[in-house]
Amino acid sequence: MSAIDDLPPLREVIAAHGLSARKSLGQNFLLDLNLTAKIARSAGDLTGADVLEIGPGPGGLTRGLLAEGARRVVAVEKDDRCLPALAEIAAAYPGRLEILSGDALEIDVARDLTPPVKIVANLPYNVGTELLTRWLDPPDWPPFWQTLTLMFQREVAERITAGPGSKAYGRLSVLAAWRSDARIVMDLPPSAFTPPPKVRSAVVHLTPLPEPRFPANAKTLTRTVAAAFNQRRKMLRAALKRLAPDIEDRLIAAGIAPTARAEEVPLEAFCALARELDAH
Ligand code: SAM
Repeated sequence: MSAIDDLPPLREVIAAHGLSARKSLGQNFLLDLNLTAKIARSAGDLTGADVLEIGPGPGGLTRGLLAEGARRVVAVEKDDRCLPALAEIAAAYPGRLEILSGDALEIDVARDLTPPVKIVANLPYNVGTELLTRWLDPPDWPPFWQTLTLMFQREVAERITAGPGSKAYGRLSVLAAWRSDARIVMDLPPSAFTPPPKVRSAVVHLTPLPEPRFPANAKTLTRTVAAAFNQRRKMLRAALKRLAPDIEDRLIAAGIAPTARAEEVPLEAFCALARELDAH
């Protein structure tokens, strides 16, 4: 195995800084630097890009991103125990790594970044979907990021990339497909992590479309899709009845059978329904 940098192996870093993994912080670390460099490469060419990383932990992926040529990495970490280990990486890559200590759900980092911005992260499972939802629904479109390359539990990755008619199809699939291309680019077994999680993981790569695939108001579409999938076993005329008194008519006008269930409805029809709801 060739070294990607001159820093100590991650097992030594973890031992030296006492970084025993905490479940409450979703800590499953990647210790194979060849693997983290491969994940970094799956984000495309990083040279000339600012990379936002959430949850660098002991810094395995951070080192991969820097070794693969990221112009600058801005990394947000909640666990202060990791800061000394991350400071060592920053010293090895002068001026290229900035660590922000805190909760990624609370810190607004967009303004610290210079475009083009790529987001790459092995996400803590407890905040992953919330962060993705926010990145997919910013105030302006196109968003501040050029690509998202994110590790999730395999089941979540399938939900993000699923199409209608499958069990995995849901709110995340519709929101991702509306304004981005999303695909699974890597599959990882539990043994890739320390400690190994119970389930498989996968890396999802998303690129934003210049315009939404079909016109709709973001708020209305989000509200409609959330209501539809919150009661996914119900027929839409029942699941959506709070959205409009004449929901059956609105569904028919959008070309959706009132007896259909959310799982069967393609993105285009959800967008048509959102437009119908706004028009009345
Ligand atoms: N990137 C490292 C790797 O690949 O080995 C660690 C990944 S581990 C799955 C998730 C990391 O996110 C942990 O370092 C954890 O402390 C951090 N984390 C958890 N919740 C966070 C939050 N709300 N904001 C920022 N970092 C968080």
